[in-house]
Amino acid sequence: MAREGMASAEPKKEKQSVTTTQVDKSTDAEKAKKPWWFSLCRKRCRVVAVSEEQNPKEQSREKVVRFKGLTEEEETRLGVHDTVQREEKRENNTKTLRQKKFKWLGFPNPGQICYINSCLQSLLTLGDFVRAISCQEHLWNLVPEAALMRSFMDIKKSHHSDDAPHKISLLAAFNSTIWSPVFQDFVQKDAHELLTSLLEQMRSLSPMLQTMAASRGRSYSCPVEDHMVFKMVNTRTCKGCSLGSTREELFTNLSLDVVPGGRSVEQMLQDYLTEKELEYNCECGATTSGQRLSFLTLPRVLVLHLKRFSFTPTFQLRKINDPVVILRELVVSSNQDVGCYSLVSTINHIGLMASSGHYICDGVDQDVGEEDPTDRWFTYNDAEVTETSGNSVCDKRKYTSYILFYRRQGKRQTL
Ligand SMILES: [Zn+2]
Repeated sequence: MAREGMASAEPKKEKQSVTTTQVDKSTDAEKAKKPWWFSLCRKRCRVVAVSEEQNPKEQSREKVVRFKGLTEEEETRLGVHDTVQREEKRENNTKTLRQKKFKWLGFPNPGQICYINSCLQSLLTLGDFVRAISCQEHLWNLVPEAALMRSFMDIKKSHHSDDAPHKISLLAAFNSTIWSPVFQDFVQKDAHELLTSLLEQMRSLSPMLQTMAASRGRSYSCPVEDHMVFKMVNTRTCKGCSLGSTREELFTNLSLDVVPGGRSVEQMLQDYLTEKELEYNCECGATTSGQRLSFLTLPRVLVLHLKRFSFTPTFQLRKINDPVVILRELVVSSNQDVGCYSLVSTINHIGLMASSGHYICDGVDQDVGEEDPTDRWFTYNDAEVTETSGNSVCDKRKYTSYILFYRRQGKRQTL
């Protein structure tokens, strides 16, 4: 494996990224193509109400607001100012501590599990998704088959720990809860295959967990269904008589072709949605139909897989190293509405060959979020974690980005 060589070469490059300035990399042509609502995306995100249950910071702010009805005398008597100051101080201390401890966020790599570490780091960047799993612990903890959720949340709980041996034991336990036998050895695997497998395994537990929840007068909501799954409609139309058929399909991610020429993610998505011709023997005698996919629903997290591995005519696996223009924001239309998405994480495959290489992950710092002007991101290279910025990630991962995670901004907008 070329993994060791790549791992030692990468960190040097990472450190340069900290000072990268934030600039809008969009060309004038790209800016001109953006629809009129595009500029609303970021503004809309700032006014969206976040559930109190989901955001502890909002809870503490709420406590402050409730005291506003008291007189100054009452506030002094009740020690409100002290309470508020103490809470603010505690919040600031926690924040500072977390900022200092970011170097502990890494996961050790005892074998060739950089693909597992990268997938885990990307999933842990999806705060709402993780909270959706966490808040249903009282349900999945009762089901032996839901070991994947338990091992995933164990890893989440020890994310800030500097206890490397403990993390290795948790990673091994996580690995053993994956049903697919493909991932049971400690040999490098495809990160996209693992991610798809993990999400499908969590989804498959849903009926069992729903039944168990119903028996206790409760309800279970699948985090994967709620955050990643989206519905597409596959439309086939005969080129002769224009008759056709439609079929609905569910996805957890889309696999986009990487073609030469440095196309943007938006263009690649458009290519995917463009009608393709296929052979089909229609009753009218025509043999060609057009096939087109379009979004029926939009997910909260849009996962895009860039197909950098393909087979040659002689069935040799090869790596496609062509550049991809990674966009910070992406506008996606479904048949019913329009979604504005922000890039929150990337999984990257470093290495020119398909047979070897090294996976690393970039993710937005959840403490500041993707809308924060500091644009603070982290690069997770197994146990090593370095600071970077979202703009730097877009710039540096042109040739290596493999899976992109876009989080939907704000609420749904109806056309
Ligand atoms: Zn026909």
